[in-house]
Amino acid sequence: MSNNPPPTPTSAHILGVRVDDVTLDEALSWAERAIQSGAPRQVATVNVEFVMAARGDGEFRRVLAGSALCVPDSAGIMWAARTLGRPLRERIPGVEMAQGLAALAAQRGYGLYLLGAAPGVAEQAAAKLREAHPALRIAGTYAGSPAAAEEAEIVARIRQAAPQILLVAYGAPKQELWISRNMHRLGVPVLMGVGGTLDYLAGVVKRAPAAWRRLGLEWLYRLYRQPWRWRRMLSLPHFAWRVLVARLGRAEEERC
Ligand code: UDP
Repeated sequence: MSNNPPPTPTSAHILGVRVDDVTLDEALSWAERAIQSGAPRQVATVNVEFVMAARGDGEFRRVLAGSALCVPDSAGIMWAARTLGRPLRERIPGVEMAQGLAALAAQRGYGLYLLGAAPGVAEQAAAKLREAHPALRIAGTYAGSPAAAEEAEIVARIRQAAPQILLVAYGAPKQELWISRNMHRLGVPVLMGVGGTLDYLAGVVKRAPAAWRRLGLEWLYRLYRQPWRWRRMLSLPHFAWRVLVARLGRAEEERC
């Protein structure tokens, strides 16, 4: 086993949040190196809601800044990076990163633990992942909750199962804060917040059709399927406005 830490990728900075310029293949090689080196490393899947939440939440901002890998999850992030003159090569939706980690786990014999989502969903997601990768070892599944009162018990369960990869589905930013608070006592090398990914994998919630995804309209499909999200989505136009202002500010500085 190598103890070399995985290399740090180059990054874009979007309204104060770092987003790493990695492809899915590079992110998975990074994860493999992280598992071999053993120390705990947090992976965040940054989308527009993350960036806007981080602007008003110092703790979330600190956790994202401390995450070892921040992958670009959404079309809005790709657009912002381009607009700010630091384009990123590939979008890595959280669900695809999770599927990639499951494939890596199956290939290398790593244990995968699925934490969070409604009761029964993690088990359904695990079954779907095992259908796709029969060699996959699911170290455990548990819904639990991000409540402080449950933390010690959940940590004990995960330590007992000793997985190499932990996916946490408590929604952002709760899942990122949960990982950050507990990662140093879990004994798990790669830990990632996955939001609604377990719902997608389990088939409880449908992902946008490929054509919508190609057009960068996954957010619109999500709004159509889950209209109660409209309030959260108000952050999208605000984000676009802030990015354009930042770009104009930069153009102004370059002229001076
Ligand atoms: N969730 C949970 N406990 C909580 C809050 C959320 O298990 O206290 C789960 C929820 O069931 C869903 C997942 O977290 O499976 C992600 O929720 P959401 O889709 O709101 O997150 P996003 O993808 O927007 O970050």
